[in-house]
Amino acid sequence: MTALDSPPLGPVLEDLVRSHRPRTEAGSVPANIPHLQVPPFDRFGIAVATTSGEVFSSGDADLPFSIQSISKVFTLAMALSADDSGSLWSRVLREPSGTSFNSLVQLEVEHGIPRNPFINSGALVVTDHLMERSPDAAAQVLRFLTDQVGHQNGRQGPFIDEVAARSELSSSSRNLALAHFLKAFGNLRRPAQAVVENYVRQCSIMMTCVEVAKAGLFLAQDGRGAQGAVVSRSEAKRIGSIMLTCGMYDAAGEFAYRVGLPGKSGVGGGILAIVPGECAICVWSPRLDSKGNSLAGSAALADLSDRTGWSIF
Ligand code: GLU
Repeated sequence: MTALDSPPLGPVLEDLVRSHRPRTEAGSVPANIPHLQVPPFDRFGIAVATTSGEVFSSGDADLPFSIQSISKVFTLAMALSADDSGSLWSRVLREPSGTSFNSLVQLEVEHGIPRNPFINSGALVVTDHLMERSPDAAAQVLRFLTDQVGHQNGRQGPFIDEVAARSELSSSSRNLALAHFLKAFGNLRRPAQAVVENYVRQCSIMMTCVEVAKAGLFLAQDGRGAQGAVVSRSEAKRIGSIMLTCGMYDAAGEFAYRVGLPGKSGVGGGILAIVPGECAICVWSPRLDSKGNSLAGSAALADLSDRTGWSIF
């Protein structure tokens, strides 16, 4: 579908909010992250940042939420942009895992090489990689996101919820186990505790749907972000491919089937989806399906792609 025959976006987004804002407490919240257990179940926001520089939004698109694993897209892009030797790809694979995002099982089978950078073990390796540039990897991520989002007319902008990070850290036995396991295989350079601390802080970054859509826009425009090239065109394509195959936990196949776009979700209920050449979309609604993806968010994206024809297929 071309821009000329697609329906006007503003009314479409408003309609999506009307149809998909949850009316019941269906779904779940993550058991291991105390601060994610409280948001009102009926929150729903959606924003679209287009390659022509426009931003459309509706619902709770200006309320900050915890980006959680959406951060893994940004850390991967940052790590690749500084990885001239290609060494990152000797430390992490690019295959769907088909198991839960915090699984330890495959790490043993693959001798300490995570299946992909979007499961927790892979994201820990990427964070470790970023820590070589500066030990405060989470601050690097925050700076990157703030740059991509740009000036906000007095609005707060992305920030790390340090209280939430500390609370998650106190229940991070599983991520610590993954980090120690990686370390035992020689695939973590920094101390396990320091890597997990940075990882949890990067996951605890708070952003609005509008901000996440703006920050993800470089993936829709051949790697060009708000302040110039973030990654090369081919790297942008490859990050999109990994989002498509690995971005939605072990429901990546189902999401590709229903939505047909590269996406990355987080257990905070956010999803970033990319329409190459057109736009970046962020939808947020906190209640999750059994695989950890936003229930209402996934349904709204399937609806949006049907209505607009946005799909990579
Ligand atoms: N901080 C969360 C964890 O490591 C992120 C999970 C996610 O969003 O996939 O468990």
